[in-house]
Amino acid sequence: MTSKTAIVTGGTRGIGKAIAVKFAKNGANIVLNALNEELLIKTCKEIEQFGVKCTYFKGDISDMKSSELLIEHARKNFINIDVLVNNAGITRDNLIVRMSEQEWDEVIKVNLKGTFNCTKMVLKLMLKQKKGSIINISSIVGNTGNVGQANYSASKAAIFGFTKSVAKEVARKNVRCNVISPGFIDTDMTKKLSDEIKEKYKKIIPLGRFGMPEEIADACYFLANAEYITGQVLAVDGGTDM
Ligand code: NAD
Repeated sequence: MTSKTAIVTGGTRGIGKAIAVKFAKNGANIVLNALNEELLIKTCKEIEQFGVKCTYFKGDISDMKSSELLIEHARKNFINIDVLVNNAGITRDNLIVRMSEQEWDEVIKVNLKGTFNCTKMVLKLMLKQKKGSIINISSIVGNTGNVGQANYSASKAAIFGFTKSVAKEVARKNVRCNVISPGFIDTDMTKKLSDEIKEKYKKIIPLGRFGMPEEIADACYFLANAEYITGQVLAVDGGTDM
């Protein structure tokens, strides 16, 4: 990916950070986005140690204007934008009968609308460039469902249909759009689960363990460079969704 540029939303920790590091190690310049400025500065410094340029934009992807400014920031700093990874995501778990309207709205707004916002904005550039790769980070629970995650599962399921529609719309302009569907990955998001729940999940993972963020990053790097793959869902889940 030497001299290519990738935008990674939610890139300061967990899966997003692992993706940014993987791309940077392979020569890509990085534009990081997240909500915490301190972490953005720290992560940028770490990424520049791989000899690439890294800039950051603090902003909420669920806000259309903020997403527009993120892409504008990227365009001002780099000539082309080769890859967008829509990674930022949140959970607000609750059983459906107890789920508040706010818990529903927040998750849909960040996970689904955020993906729409950044995709729409980056496509303005990618369609002009006649090249680009968009990778959306969904989840296997978008396919399987999960107790306490009706909001999260709905947002992640919608990303499958969204990605395939976008892929069909932009393929003729040499722009690709794919999904990675992670299983249970060891990050801050899953650290908040109780040990009991973690053990229960491990029993349903054929490979018997949670995945590592670097294993999602490897798949993301593959898709970013797979010039003849578009509209696909790649599960990286230890076999959970077989
Ligand atoms: P994480 O909570 O560790 O990190 C999320 C990142 O997103 C943080 O950097 C945070 O600042 C950023 N973010 C949150 N809301 C934002 C917003 N509105 N605007 C901009 N940035 C925002 O999460 P993670 O586990 O690394 O997950 C990354 C992605 O992978 C998410 O989309 C998540 O749904 C998905 N995923 C995770 C798992 C898992 O087991 N960890 C499994 C399947 C899918």
